[in-house]
Amino acid sequence: MHRVRRRLGLLAPRGWTGAALAVSLFAAAAPGIAAPDLELAWYDPDAIVDTELEAVAGEVAAIFGDLGKRVALARGSGLEAPGAKLLRVIVVKEPVAAWNLGPDVMGVTPRKGGGKSVYLIVPALREVLGGAPEEGEMALALARVLAHEVVHAVAPEHPHAAHGLMGARYQRRLLVKKRFRVDPACAAAFIDGLDAL
Ligand SMILES: [Zn+2]
Repeated sequence: MHRVRRRLGLLAPRGWTGAALAVSLFAAAAPGIAAPDLELAWYDPDAIVDTELEAVAGEVAAIFGDLGKRVALARGSGLEAPGAKLLRVIVVKEPVAAWNLGPDVMGVTPRKGGGKSVYLIVPALREVLGGAPEEGEMALALARVLAHEVVHAVAPEHPHAAHGLMGARYQRRLLVKKRFRVDPACAAAFIDGLDAL
């Protein structure tokens, strides 16, 4: 515990003390403030995405809310509470060469070596979405690809499906369709995986 607190202290703004940090973490975990079932910390170091994050967060919350789970997406601060069920979402221009992916891959969840991170390859997603998307379509598309990768990260044994959220390939039609449902097998795998996280 002490080690973790000290490490976090290095990331804290000037003037913060370990004690102040411990107090704020304690407050965040206090009864009455229900923690989400899973936190997604968004990192976009090159500012590739100019879509309102709230719109992406809303659709992600809706997809997993249908399964009775609260999944909260917010900008990562580097100060996420230790012990939280947390995945980092990292927005990148292109996949790491060593992943050896095709040019149309929009999201990646490394099985090994990636820590608890999923990657969104936004230029590929824009390509699938096509030129001049309508208002709100980019947020929907980002949310669907993100939700797909989150299921991979939480339930790594769950295979791709023929269609729906866990379909291996997405076309524009699927990225922007109005209502997006999760099939029961995928839902069960996700809920089990989340419990075990
Ligand atoms: Zn996949």
